[in-house]
Amino acid sequence: MDNLPHIVVVGGGAGGLELVTSLGNKLGKKRKARITLVDAGLTHVWKPLLHEVASGSLDASANEINYRAHARKHHYEFQLGRMSGLDRRAKKLVIAPFHDEEGMEVVPERHIRYDTLVIAVGSTANDFGTPGAQENCLFLDSLKQARRFHNLMLNAFLRKNHEALQGKEHTLNISIIGAGATGVELAAELRLASRELPVYGMNHLKSSDVSISVIEAAERILPALPGRLSAAATRELERQHVKVLTGQPVSEVRENSVIMKDGTELPSEMTIWAAGIKAPAFLAELDGLEVNRGNQLVVEQTLQTTQDVDIFALGDCAACPQPDSDRPVPPRAQAAHQQADALFKTLCNRLEGKEDVPFVYNDHGSLINFSRYTTVGNLMGNLSGRSMYIEGKVARLFYVSLYRMHQVALHGVVRTGIIWLMDKISRAMHPRLKLH
Ligand SMILES: Cc1cc2nc3c(=O)[nH]c(=O)nc-3n(C[C@H](O)[C@H](O)[C@H](O)COP(=O)(O)OP(=O)(O)OC[C@H]3O[C@@H](n4cnc5c(N)ncnc54)[C@H](O)[C@@H]3O)c2cc1C
Repeated sequence: MDNLPHIVVVGGGAGGLELVTSLGNKLGKKRKARITLVDAGLTHVWKPLLHEVASGSLDASANEINYRAHARKHHYEFQLGRMSGLDRRAKKLVIAPFHDEEGMEVVPERHIRYDTLVIAVGSTANDFGTPGAQENCLFLDSLKQARRFHNLMLNAFLRKNHEALQGKEHTLNISIIGAGATGVELAAELRLASRELPVYGMNHLKSSDVSISVIEAAERILPALPGRLSAAATRELERQHVKVLTGQPVSEVRENSVIMKDGTELPSEMTIWAAGIKAPAFLAELDGLEVNRGNQLVVEQTLQTTQDVDIFALGDCAACPQPDSDRPVPPRAQAAHQQADALFKTLCNRLEGKEDVPFVYNDHGSLINFSRYTTVGNLMGNLSGRSMYIEGKVARLFYVSLYRMHQVALHGVVRTGIIWLMDKISRAMHPRLKLH
């Protein structure tokens, strides 16, 4: 086993987990290479589901994949740990000491040797150093944060329901900073929660007692998407009684309010930061690898880092050029999925002494899901280069298919079919909202 070329992938997210699965199935199984996944957590949940976990419309445990079990099935090894450094000359990555929840050291600092290294550690929200954001905002970058949000939300509803019962003022003000896809979809999920919770006993609180605002610095919501989509999304949010505040940069976040640049203070008991992304800070200190201002590793068209032919990066943590644009590939699940596919081919080719495969991002369009209300989006016509506007059930079908494609990459078609069936049964048997 030790003589086999060792491919190490750090980060088992939307892109990294798909990559190790394909590599394990093809190279690990036939003992052509040793494949190792390193992740800071024990389980994987597809990140675009996190806002549904936060609102309670999705039970994460049913969608969680245990890395150890998955590794055994797909012929790769799994190492639990957080990458913290790199020694390129010795071809070793550094894994920080692992501590339990009480802070006791379980495993000391370790080193893992690699022949080829792929870094796929994703990104986190970028608060751009806004005063008070770290202390007073909730974030949705991990399953842990999504679960924490859910608990805080249930407690806030409970508290307001009790205040309503006592005849006190009981408006719950929720603000979402950033009206990209995450912020907009979260607003719709929260509106659904505010409508559903009274059905489950919190019947003194009305949906209209929950005030939801989406705050955006740009002049329109979904600024990265076509204007028509943005207009349709604004209409839908307003239909759901979500306040849409555009052209409003946030200058400070306080414990119970958000301060705008023009000095306006918006009351807010729950504030969620969903604007911008940045890659993890440790990437900027990886033994001379080139990063951009957002800590993303700068890569060539082949996803190879600019400074090291044996180190690749993909997904949100990579700044990958696009041939016809001065902007890098956008940080999206569909990009991570496509990059995992291209890099799989490159890594297989390398073992046979063949050429690397250049990655070209194929934008299939954007879909915005308004919880169970509706979905709007545009599909890109591959041949014409023009986009087609869609909404309703057809759009919802395409939206769901992105997750199903991820599941097919991880489990194969048959198991994905079974999981889909089980999801249907589970939805029929359980409450529409997770209540604990
Ligand atoms: C709420 C939300 C909704 C979204 N909705 C959509 C959507 O509808 N459509 C879309 O295209 N995109 C969406 N996105 C963006 C999409 O989730 C990301 O673009 C995608 O997950 C990026 O994949 P990735 O593989 O680069 O990283 P991730 O999926 O973030 O995975 C990174 C992995 O790296 C691990 N990791 C991090 N640091 C370390 C370390 N130091 N050592 C070891 N492991 C580490 C993490 O534990 C994680 O498993 C959404 C994002 C959010 C937060």
